[in-house]
Amino acid sequence: MTTFSELNLHRQVLKAVTAEGYETPTPIQLQSIPHLLEKRDLLGIAQTGTGKTAAFALPTLNHLREQNQNRTPKSTKVLVLAPTRELAAQIAESFQTYSKFMDCVTQTVFGGVKINKQIRALERGCHVLVATPGRLLDLVNQGAVQLGDVEVLILDEADQMLDMGFIHDLQKIISHVPKERQTLLFSATMPKLISDLAEKYLKDPVRVSVAPESTTAERVTQGVIHVANNNKLQLLGKLLDDPSIDRALVFTRTKHGADKVVRKLMAKKYPAMAIHGNKSQAQRLKALAAFKSGECRILIATDIAARGIDIDGISHVINFEMPNVAEQYVHRIGRTARAGREGVSISLVAEDELYYLREVEKITRVEVEVLPAPEGCEGLVLPTPDPNVRVRKPKGPARRSGRNQSQGRGGQRQGGNPPSKSKMRSRKRPGKNQRRRDREKVSS
Ligand code: AMP
Repeated sequence: MTTFSELNLHRQVLKAVTAEGYETPTPIQLQSIPHLLEKRDLLGIAQTGTGKTAAFALPTLNHLREQNQNRTPKSTKVLVLAPTRELAAQIAESFQTYSKFMDCVTQTVFGGVKINKQIRALERGCHVLVATPGRLLDLVNQGAVQLGDVEVLILDEADQMLDMGFIHDLQKIISHVPKERQTLLFSATMPKLISDLAEKYLKDPVRVSVAPESTTAERVTQGVIHVANNNKLQLLGKLLDDPSIDRALVFTRTKHGADKVVRKLMAKKYPAMAIHGNKSQAQRLKALAAFKSGECRILIATDIAARGIDIDGISHVINFEMPNVAEQYVHRIGRTARAGREGVSISLVAEDELYYLREVEKITRVEVEVLPAPEGCEGLVLPTPDPNVRVRKPKGPARRSGRNQSQGRGGQRQGGNPPSKSKMRSRKRPGKNQRRRDREKVSS
């Protein structure tokens, strides 16, 4: 078995890995690190939870260690782009952890917080800058940072950045980065837009791919309770009384739905908090910290807000509402059963969500077990539907979940057809407020 010490990492990088308690590299690390140390470009298909952050951070820090380590004002040597503030903060934290025995300054910039503090933080320059695209572009346009010194460019969760409409921002940012650079692109899926992006910006990349989260999902004990929509809150309360729940992540489809669940649970004295796109950065961080520390054991989240977040010890994932994209279900339940532990998922499925449950069973090839009603809730639970009766897709406007419906089937933009070329040509960059609204809309 290959160990980290056989990977030719610099002594100081290796020391940090050992201090973190990592013993053997994960598959994505084994496949990527040797090529990245040779300064190859890389196209990686991997999701959160596979160890992909260390896969790109360790060789990048190695590269920095070999360079002159002086900082240039308002500049960075490594630029990492990520779709959400949470993921950006998490990546920056990883860089700080892995570089703690070397001289490396990591800065993070993202929207939703005041820009002035970020402008000041960038004045002296940094070695690693982790950013969400919109805010970075604002900072570039204001002259607070210039990207002419970037040697390594990393695009993380590129598919989600495209889903969130960041393609134009990405292209503009890349146009400011020198052509002579190392480029790494990570994505959970490989729709056409991503392969086009890779084709355009990567030079003869090494391709690595690790098994999707379904391997994690296999360790999750999955159950379903059939229940009418208006009985879900009562049932959720009962489920949360189960003392085996250490930490429960509850998913709703909408921000409004998440707030409603929190209000109702709080009214019943269940301490719960929510994270979603309408919450301020401070509120999100507070909720995540309380959930991580165990102070608050129930976190209500929408899909995008929760994606990329790595929290150990989530014992239960509860789908208060089913996602309408089966792949999203796999992402959701993959939040539990991390690091080799067991996990439980419970889906509350109303009649109009039965179609989505069947879709999940189709892609995961697992028939989700129907759970008995919790004590005292027998009257709330619906009879188990006949599996042989065909269920129709609900009518009406497609219900949005975190990910775009067409993704995975050609990867078109949200809303179906891609915009025509003439529209694309005539489209101006939306104003700052509009972009903020757009980002908030998609991060719900
Ligand atoms: P990521 O996919 O980068 O979000 O990483 C998921 C989790 O795996 C993080 O909590 C990392 O600290 C952890 N991790 C990454 N690499 C290793 C490793 N080689 N051994 C043990 N844990 C790791």
